[in-house]
Parts: sequence; structure tokens; C-alpha cells
Amino acid sequence: MNIILFGPPGAGKGTQAKYLVKKLNGFQISTGDILRDEIKKDSEIGKEIINDMNNGRFVSDEIVNKLIKNLVFDHQKKNKLIFDGYPRSLSQAKNLDLLLDSSNQKIDLIFFLSVDKNTIIKRIEKRKILEKRSDDDLDTILKRYDTYMETTKPVLDFYSKNQNFHEIDGTQKIEQITSKIDTFINV
Ligand code: AMP
Repeated sequence: MNIILFGPPGAGKGTQAKYLVKKLNGFQISTGDILRDEIKKDSEIGKEIINDMNNGRFVSDEIVNKLIKNLVFDHQKKNKLIFDGYPRSLSQAKNLDLLLDSSNQKIDLIFFLSVDKNTIIKRIEKRKILEKRSDDDLDTILKRYDTYMETTKPVLDFYSKNQNFHEIDGTQKIEQITSKIDTFINV
């Protein structure tokens, strides 16, 4: 199964992705983690993206799409992809469709975790203390939320027509979200 977890920063995508990885023996594809890793390694890409990341702006589609490509074509990961934070723009969504098509795969389920801005702020403030992420200060959080809303609206429109699209109330407790997800997987 290939699954997309979709929703604003702090919606709980990472938590549910980890659950799905365990349950389905899958591979979490978190572009946020991949990008943070490039910064940690101080790679060429890392140097290029550090400003955007720390200011709550999206990294260019070109860079993100390039980083995703090998993962989608990796045989070991075939049909076990759990996308967390990708795609985030219409161009990324179309790119993913093409990559999956040319590797004989498809998206089986899309979960949209919807959460309001106030809940997001509270959650990320908490995560900041627990995980010490450099892009988790309040200003960046607000920018990330607004960027998300602007850029991902077309992606939401793109996927919501899909019969495998399911919106889940992301303000619920972790276990409630997980069991809702399970109702679509345990079939
Ligand atoms: P996340 O960990 O998913 O909340 O992502 C943290 C930051 O990484 C975002 O605010 C963006 O700057 C960048 N990022 C992560 N995924 C993407 C993506 N698919 N496209 C563009 N930028 C991304």
C-alpha cells in the first residue's frame, strides 16, 4: 500500500506515519526530515535550503522532487511508501503521479488530517520544547501555517476528488485518529 498523509504542520502526520510504518512494514518518506538531514550534513542542498526552512518558506519543488525520485524507484520500498509532508504543492502532486505511474505503482489511500490554526500553535509550541526543532518558533510556525494554506489548497482540491481521499478530524486524540485510519486499512 502507498499512503499519503496530508495536513498542516503539527497535524500529526509524523505520528500517524510512524504507526503506519510499523503496521504495514512500510517506509516513512518525510520530506521535512530529509531536508533537515541535508542541513545537518551541511551538504550543497543543505546550504541552499537553510534560509527557506528557517523562515517557514517551502523549499523549491525542483529540490524536493529530486530528493523523492530515488525513494519512489527503490525496489525495497515499492508499494510500501508512507508519504509524510509530500506532496505539498500541485506541481509535487503531479510529479508524484508521474513517478508512481512510471514505476507501476499508485496511491492507495490519502488521509487529510484537518486541524485549526489555534490547535496547531499550541501543539508546535509543545513540540518545540520536546524536540528542539530550529524551525519551530512561533513566527515560523505562523508563516508555515499560512504558506501551507496558500500553497496546498490546490493540492487539497486535486486529491479531494479522488475516491481514496479521506478527511479525518486531526484535533482528536492520537489513538482516535489511528483507529479512524485503521477502519480504511483493516478491510
Ligand atoms: P515538516 O517537517 O513536514 O513540517 O517540514 C518542515 C519544513 O521543511 C517546511 O516548513 C518546509 O520549509 C520544508 N518542506 C518539507 N516538506 C516540503 C515539501 N514537500 N515541499 C517544500 N518544502 C518542504
